[in-house]
Amino acid sequence: MRCTNVFAPLAGLAALTIVATPAVAQRPGGRGTTIRPGQECPPGTTEVRPRSCAAPQFPPPSIVDYRPVSTLVTPEHLVPKAKFPVIDYHGHPGGRVGSAAGLAALGAALDSLNVRLIVVAENQSGEELRRTVAAIRAAPAMRDRARVLAGIDFRNVGPGWGERAVRQLEADVAAGAVGVGEISKSFGLSSRKADGSRLRIDDPDLDPIWEACARLRVPVFIHMADPQEFCQPIDYTNERWLEMALFADRRYPAERFPSFEQLARERDNLLRKHPNTTFVIAHLGWHGNDLARLGKLFDEMPNVYTEVGAVLYDIGRQPRAAREFFIRYQDRILFGKDAFQPEEYPYYWRVFETADEYFDYYRPYHAFWKLYGIELPDSVLKKVYYQNALRITPGLPQAGWPR
Ligand SMILES: [Zn+2]
Repeated sequence: MRCTNVFAPLAGLAALTIVATPAVAQRPGGRGTTIRPGQECPPGTTEVRPRSCAAPQFPPPSIVDYRPVSTLVTPEHLVPKAKFPVIDYHGHPGGRVGSAAGLAALGAALDSLNVRLIVVAENQSGEELRRTVAAIRAAPAMRDRARVLAGIDFRNVGPGWGERAVRQLEADVAAGAVGVGEISKSFGLSSRKADGSRLRIDDPDLDPIWEACARLRVPVFIHMADPQEFCQPIDYTNERWLEMALFADRRYPAERFPSFEQLARERDNLLRKHPNTTFVIAHLGWHGNDLARLGKLFDEMPNVYTEVGAVLYDIGRQPRAAREFFIRYQDRILFGKDAFQPEEYPYYWRVFETADEYFDYYRPYHAFWKLYGIELPDSVLKKVYYQNALRITPGLPQAGWPR
């Protein structure tokens, strides 16, 4: 139907000045430029025939303005509510858990998604944690629908820190914390020790706290680094160019920050050094783009689990490999969402539960591609949605879940 007017999809884009543009682009390296095998077309041109480059005949939109609408007609199965009750292990409900009214609104939002329980992963400790636990216990409808993780204060790590941190963790667990986390990405990346040096993820001064987690049977939910592209130069080959251009605090230039590989090495040392401690590494450990690497880590370290918050774009772009991975490592993957945006959860249900093809993702700056469903078997869905979280976290309400 758009054939009658080739410009219709571009309607409304402010910078469009097609009429005034000459029929053939005047830019250097324009139509007719030839390249050698393996060479790239010059900027502003694209390969139209083997080794022959041309420029568009009118000004191309920027990547922000190019919004092609798919013409693909294929079955659609929207999934507003998950098929089985869900535990969101990567919860950031913010102030909603601090009051009866906030908890009631949270409960209504979770009901609409079939999320039965949210794990508040906001590093609460001491008085703040006690207040949150009290608010949850005082809300009859939410008493069994939210649990809180404890935070560790990584400031001033040095002599005496371990004992203080363990004492605080014991108090927080006694007050109702069911795990530790989410340990933030600044850990390893920018946090400093008392002596001013970078606090490495595998620093031996931290060993007492990880051993205490094993003794207290509380899992450690840890977010290491950020996608590898954030450590790479911001050039036009970078998959996350747009995101880094939008958010200044997501750029980790090599001259100021340790590399992704350095952080991953330190993380793996930590996981290996404490085999009796249960770790949940956030965001597929940022290995969603290399599932074989994550699989190797799982094979080597049975104490390690992961969750899927904010990496749906990597799962949904490799539906066959992801399905195989989820089935193979079905006991090691938990559901987590990260940012609390109720309208975004159904994208996860659709990827996990359907075989739909080529559908939109919720955050265009994460991914300029489409998603595909991985149609997990019910037995795997149940593990990912709630059974794995229940098994590794004794402090979660264990009754009333479907078998
Ligand atoms: Zn988080």
